[in-house]
Amino acid sequence: MSPVKKSIEDILVDTFQLQRADVDAMAAEAQRTDTPIQQYVVNHKKVDKHRLLKAISIEWAIKVVDLKDIEIDPDVAKIIPVETCRRNKLVPFNKEENMLFIAMMDPRNLFALEDLQFRTGLRVIPYLALPDDVREKIDELYGTEEQPLETSEDASAAQVKVSRDDLMDDARELTQELLASLDTSGEVALEQQAKEQTDIMQVDASAPEVEKLVNAIILEAVRLKASDIHIEPFEKRILVRYRVDGQLRKATFKIPISFRGALVSKIKIMSGSMNLVERRIPQDGRIQVRAKGLPIEFRVNIVPTIFGESVVMRVLDRSGAGLPLEQLGFLPDTLAAFTESLAKPYGLILVCGPTGSGKSFTLTAALQKVKDPAEKIITAENPVEYELDGVVQVPVNPDLKMGEKKFDFATALRAFLRQDPDIIMVGEIRDEETARVAMEAALTGHLVLSTIHTNDATSAVSRLHEMGAPMYMVVNTLEAVLAQRLIRTLCKDCKQPDPHPSEEMLRILKEHHVDLSQATFMKATGCKKCGGTGMKGRTAMHELLIMNEDLRTVCMKEVALTPIREAALRSGMRPLMVDGLIKVSRGLTTYEEIFTACSRQ
Ligand SMILES: [Zn+2]
Repeated sequence: MSPVKKSIEDILVDTFQLQRADVDAMAAEAQRTDTPIQQYVVNHKKVDKHRLLKAISIEWAIKVVDLKDIEIDPDVAKIIPVETCRRNKLVPFNKEENMLFIAMMDPRNLFALEDLQFRTGLRVIPYLALPDDVREKIDELYGTEEQPLETSEDASAAQVKVSRDDLMDDARELTQELLASLDTSGEVALEQQAKEQTDIMQVDASAPEVEKLVNAIILEAVRLKASDIHIEPFEKRILVRYRVDGQLRKATFKIPISFRGALVSKIKIMSGSMNLVERRIPQDGRIQVRAKGLPIEFRVNIVPTIFGESVVMRVLDRSGAGLPLEQLGFLPDTLAAFTESLAKPYGLILVCGPTGSGKSFTLTAALQKVKDPAEKIITAENPVEYELDGVVQVPVNPDLKMGEKKFDFATALRAFLRQDPDIIMVGEIRDEETARVAMEAALTGHLVLSTIHTNDATSAVSRLHEMGAPMYMVVNTLEAVLAQRLIRTLCKDCKQPDPHPSEEMLRILKEHHVDLSQATFMKATGCKKCGGTGMKGRTAMHELLIMNEDLRTVCMKEVALTPIREAALRSGMRPLMVDGLIKVSRGLTTYEEIFTACSRQ
């Protein structure tokens, strides 16, 4: 707060000619009753409300608004979450172009103003109002604290705006600036204080610094194109790491340990659904923010550790969809065969791989490929990860039970069949019921796309059988299975020719008759652009099993994996590893990367 602005007590003495001793007594009583002094003197009729506001207005060079006289547009109210309004005793009352007019109890609260500018991206123009008038207006607009209006919740969820374009680049600077302004010298003392006074940590969560810190952490994730944010407490530090291209990377900034509780509390508040005081059990939630004008959703998971709660925020970048199948790193023959399967009018097509192998991403691209205005496409997803225009997307929640009823993949699929779809996408097949309904749908003239959690394509066949589906049903519905892994690619800016490619790799490649006459093996070096790792960006490696007569015959006779796999290889399936090594021979990635990816379960 600016020291040059006269205090209200001084104004009362100077302008209203009250005795200093009387003012001090009133100030003490006001503080005791937790009433701001300006409200106290008005309530106790020591001075006239309008005269007081006028006097403060002159002293502080700020305009006054009488909230009792104005109607506020509910859309304007939605710009700021109600918690922010209550915390800082302010209320938005008008918006014109990029200006947001705010009535507040203390316009000297520069922190609050800066924070609002940051969150809304609007130019914030503060006006002076009495605290009680502000509170009444907040209650009127958002509902009381005891009985919030429904809209207030929506407003806070939708409007935790993190940024505008220009703030993006400033994110790192801001973090550093912010952290430089924090006193980190007394860490131990603060930590003890925090331990003794849990309530203070709660209060901390509403401090603008914490909010900025969370915003900065999120913005850095956006800048790095991270898929996850990890916030981990240890005895003497908080570790923030980002998963970029599948690998964890430490944040360039440090966060004082004293922020531990507040940071997690703030994240819980942003989720709008997590229990703030519960710190002993794991919790799940979601946070929606807006960055670079695009909505980003985080799936948040919190687990208690011996040093406090540890947070993982997974980015569900719904706008990230849209990469066509052609750009997902397929070798041309694999792409052609997969596309051909997708063109079939019915059947079951599966994408498999361990968690984090980009299955949904590929499935989404496949859906985009088959999308046709003449066909109805419906999906059951948990959660909906990418929004697709023209596709009916249904979020299911297998954990949600309403009495006897639950809404899982199988339930959704059954309901879908009555919706007359042509193409159905089911997030995952992981139980017998879903497997059966999916196969029935495929048998009755629908193209069904889904994922299954197996490491390779052949295993998907036996997994369906293990789930309880009869083998004749599996072989008669299954059209294709695509196994995949994500691999990091060499940084284009610093990769160098590798004169000594691995002997083992060359042997495998020759064994699979890969033409190496055009091979350009490359190795990692490291530069500024890739953070010294030598790797930047990702691509995928694939293994595509196409069901055919030979394979059907084998499957009907054998349930063992090896004969099925051998039959698939005979039919021309290229193993995952070989697909990867071909990408190594083209200078896209390294042998080590393929090796690591193949051993990932
Ligand atoms: Zn590089």
